[in-house]
Amino acid sequence: MGGFVLGSFVMLAIRRQTEKRETPSEAVDEGLPPGVASVLAVLPSSAVVLDREDRVLRASSAARAFGLVRGESLMAAELLAMARKVRRDGEIRESEIETAGRKFGQESTTFAVRVAPLGSHGQVLVLAEDQTERRRVEAVRRDFVANVSHELKTPVGALSLLAETIQDAADDPEAVRRFAGRMQHEAARLTYLVQDLITLSRIQGGEPVPAPGPVPVDEAMHEAIDRCNTKASAKDITLVAGGTEGLSIFGDDELLVTALRNLIDNAVAYSPEHTRVVVSARPAGDCVEVSVSDQGIGIPEGAQERIFERFFRVDAARSRATGGTGLGLAIVKHVAVAHGGEVTVWSKEGSGSTFTLRLPAFGGQAVPVPRTTIPLEAAQ
Ligand code: ADP
Repeated sequence: MGGFVLGSFVMLAIRRQTEKRETPSEAVDEGLPPGVASVLAVLPSSAVVLDREDRVLRASSAARAFGLVRGESLMAAELLAMARKVRRDGEIRESEIETAGRKFGQESTTFAVRVAPLGSHGQVLVLAEDQTERRRVEAVRRDFVANVSHELKTPVGALSLLAETIQDAADDPEAVRRFAGRMQHEAARLTYLVQDLITLSRIQGGEPVPAPGPVPVDEAMHEAIDRCNTKASAKDITLVAGGTEGLSIFGDDELLVTALRNLIDNAVAYSPEHTRVVVSARPAGDCVEVSVSDQGIGIPEGAQERIFERFFRVDAARSRATGGTGLGLAIVKHVAVAHGGEVTVWSKEGSGSTFTLRLPAFGGQAVPVPRTTIPLEAAQ
């Protein structure tokens, strides 16, 4: 949108310039008014200047790339009609148009367009701003808000029902205790969801980690394991740290712990009792790879692409039963991206899953220092 506002200013500037400078002696019927070419050259948007016969005098490379201009002709009939009206009455016009023009494989393109007279020789300036990305971002935001509202409604609705039930059961202390316990459970779920939303909103802007520094991977691994121990021991799942000792990444320690905690939490949540979860680090050129492997239920192949989307779950009921918010892997993905790294998954249904975080090594090169595997019993 900024480009479009800029475009409006440019248009005014061009108009002023041509009105002020162009005298009949200077006017070149077929050429551009003075200064216009250099202004158009720096515009990021699609810009086209038409002469009085609707021939294209000048077109930016963006206008050609989008297919708005071919040879000497403006391809969009709607734009041509606007240009003619503008030439007739001298009024600036704005509109939104959709063209079948393709760029980088896009099906169609939505443009915010502005058409204005240029000088006094029937020339017309057309500025078109691609709105496709803005629309996509708006649609994603709308979906997200709808999803968040839906996710919040469930525990809030449950809390309200439970409160009513407690009122009705005021004479039965045992029932009151039971329902109060369930209220606590729903309140905890609400808290996790809000915490995850806050974490996600902090990191999903696509910006790099604000103040990166050396982060010892062993410490982050052990801290994440410690935080997951209670849940693991409840299912008699053994958490094991292994791999190469002494590696450091260049990033943010809290974010690394958050990502690992989410991966370990999932490994525990989607594994049967009495299994093992292995967290392991290894050098990989200029990166460090930290993987979390489980012997759990695995992820169907068709779903593996989508699990990093916000609120995507393979089995919604199972995710809710384990206290999942549906945001864990979206957080992991954004942590990886904020570090300039990536997260990948290998999984086989019925066998287990391995999630691998690949993050830049501190100092530009991961230095391998062999170490033995240290079992950390989940027992508490
Ligand atoms: P949730 O809070 O539902 O666990 P996540 O974003 O962390 O949300 O994960 C998205 C979905 O991916 C989960 O609902 C689950 O279906 C699947 N998933 C994630 N980790 C694992 C795993 N280790 N094993 C099997 N399925 C997993």
